[in-house]
Amino acid sequence: MIRTCLTAAVAVALGLLSIAHSSPVNIFEKPTLQKRSSAHIIRECTVPGSFAVTFDDGPSAWTHELLDYLKIRGTKATFFVNGLNYNLITDPEFSAVVKRTFDEGHQIGSHTWGHMSLAQPTTDVSSQMRQLDDALLKIIGVRPVYMRPPYGETSPSALQWLGDNGYKVVNWNVDSRDWQHPLDFKSDFEGYRLALQNPAASSKGYISLQHDAEQATAEAFGMLAIEYVLSKGAKIMTVGECLNANLRLMSSLNNTIGNLELKDPAGFLNNKFVTNARSGQRFSIFDPARGSEIATCPDMNVEEVEEAIQAAKKALPEWGQKTARERSVILRKWYELMLENEMDLAKILTWENGKPLAEALGEIRYGAQFFEWFAEEAKRLYGEIIPSPAQNQRMIVIRQPLGVVGVITPWNFPSAMLTRKFGAALAVGCTVVTKPAAETPLSCLALCELGRRAGLPEGVIGVVTTHAHTKAVGKHLCESRDVSGISFTGSTAVGKILLKQSADTVKKMSLELGGNAPFIVFEDADIDKAVDAAILSKFRNSGQTCISVNRLYVHSSIKDEFGERMRAKVAKFNMGSGFDKGTTHGPLITEAAVQKVHLHVEDALKQGAKALVGGDFDDKDSAASRIGYFYPPTVLTDMKNHMRIANEETFGPVAGIFTFETEEEAIELANSTRMGLAGYFFSKDMSRCWRVAEKMQVGMVGVNNSAISSEVAPFGGVKESGLGREGARQGLEEYTQYKYINMGI
Ligand code: NAP
Repeated sequence: MIRTCLTAAVAVALGLLSIAHSSPVNIFEKPTLQKRSSAHIIRECTVPGSFAVTFDDGPSAWTHELLDYLKIRGTKATFFVNGLNYNLITDPEFSAVVKRTFDEGHQIGSHTWGHMSLAQPTTDVSSQMRQLDDALLKIIGVRPVYMRPPYGETSPSALQWLGDNGYKVVNWNVDSRDWQHPLDFKSDFEGYRLALQNPAASSKGYISLQHDAEQATAEAFGMLAIEYVLSKGAKIMTVGECLNANLRLMSSLNNTIGNLELKDPAGFLNNKFVTNARSGQRFSIFDPARGSEIATCPDMNVEEVEEAIQAAKKALPEWGQKTARERSVILRKWYELMLENEMDLAKILTWENGKPLAEALGEIRYGAQFFEWFAEEAKRLYGEIIPSPAQNQRMIVIRQPLGVVGVITPWNFPSAMLTRKFGAALAVGCTVVTKPAAETPLSCLALCELGRRAGLPEGVIGVVTTHAHTKAVGKHLCESRDVSGISFTGSTAVGKILLKQSADTVKKMSLELGGNAPFIVFEDADIDKAVDAAILSKFRNSGQTCISVNRLYVHSSIKDEFGERMRAKVAKFNMGSGFDKGTTHGPLITEAAVQKVHLHVEDALKQGAKALVGGDFDDKDSAASRIGYFYPPTVLTDMKNHMRIANEETFGPVAGIFTFETEEEAIELANSTRMGLAGYFFSKDMSRCWRVAEKMQVGMVGVNNSAISSEVAPFGGVKESGLGREGARQGLEEYTQYKYINMGI
């Protein structure tokens, strides 16, 4: 099994992943490695020639995926065909893979370790080897490179033969070392280590895990290599993870968003991806399901945001003067491109945010609808004619674009939060400078690529990616005299900072801030429907939704029944990678988010709450030893109003059940916070429905329903949950200003 799995190895600079022919091998099987948090350093592939690939057992779909991936990243590698598998050359499929590899500019080498060195160190090149090389010559038309193995000696006669036959010999030996024993894994590995460090070695990143010796040899050698890579600070992914999460993603991108340079995710200035920040700094983007790095982005700073502002300012007159219909056509095209590329966009989203693929797809479709909606609304930016009180005057109100708008968005809806803003801003003729969340910039960049394809002119959208300089970039956007408005979605704390920073330039502010949604279940409610709605709202995106239920107020007479039905359903949840088919709920975004949820649950449990399900998070299990940022879905009962969950947004998969006795009490509890984004309640009493809906201090109320978001309805909060509305007709208000024209006649 191990032997099969370790064939065809791809080694990546100081990290490695191996491509299995059939089923993926789990390199974390070893107890010592099992719990290490993982990351892979696939970005090392961007260094040309930094790694080599071994074709071993023959072609597989993964080989094509790898080739697709390399194509996207513009990286060339050396592919070695194992001398043992010369017979595969007669396999037409394999020949086709080799040919494709060569045609795409990679180097083809022949790789042998048995025939000329280890097994028969003094014999001539074997006939098998010759057959392999002849076959390769036939397929690609040139002699392959011969890789001299990093152990033992290739016999002088073999080297002679290679030289005579036009081979370039890549010498992986650093020096002549004492070969002690074929099963001396340590020294074998040492050879690889030295080879890796040898600047003269042609493929610096090559570590071959394939080994045709005993299974134990391969395994031992593999573990040593893994330990070495880990000791260098690199982290490792399993084969399945790499391929499922990354190569597969990349190859699908290749088909559709091929121009998006995901090899070095970038900022987006003047319709071009800028792969390097002026500072030279980059920041990491992680797969929350594995805690592993998936890409890095340039860490831009004030200089770049100023550049984006100036580009947006320059683009403003032309974009603003386009007819509404012209802008509408571009938005409509952008909408269509989103749908055409929906699966790729969803994969990127799942990749960086962690939500299950189906949910990610839902977000992409929801997000696209804002482009569709605002493409239509662009044509309805009506003004007014006011009946004049004076005979000799005419009074007209027109609506004009606000100007350059600074857009700052969170990671929990990395796509929809942007389209909700872009759609409205662009429809009315504004231009935009964007700072996406540091955790999820890739979705934003993918959207920009599609926007470019839809025909957005230069400078209309600029994207500044940053992590280290977020505060400075935000401050600059707020204080810039060339920026007329800020549209922010995120936490209340940051919203307040932006509001203060924008005071001096008196900017228009659109703030979609935090929530702490109440969900009231009256005694006359349809309990089944209420449970389903509570679960949908509470656990979608693993509770990381601004309109997520945070406080469940259930009438005391039905508390037990409600709690039990909820427990039964939540107990069936399946947490895992968003790419896994069986996953119903994904991870949280970061370890800090896990710790926050843990704190809230611990606080509740210490003060008398009971866990109906979940709540069994083991904090002793340190962050470093866990893989991914998961918190078990939890339902708590016997909650009290002084507990943290009652007063702070938990933003995680935890439902706390409180009780109440009267309608007045329920309303008072629901309103007992400074937040006022969304609120929900269930009741069959029509009069009560009107009463409660009107009394809830929130921007949005779900009555007998919790799926309230829609592009056609105004989204936004009251109190400290924000200012302004997004989506709907009202969404345009945030990006326009009224101009009154008095015309004397
Ligand atoms: P956050 O910490 O406020 O971050 C949101 C965005 O603001 C990110 O791009 C972040 O950049 C940036 N940011 C942070 N500090 C900043 C500063 N000093 N100046 C300028 N920008 C700054 O919120 P989050 O944790 O990402 O998102 C969760 C919050 O968003 C929750 O409270 C949730 O309720 C709220 N939310 C509200 C809505 C709504 O429609 N009302 C929708 C979704 C989410 P970095 O990533 O680089 O830190």
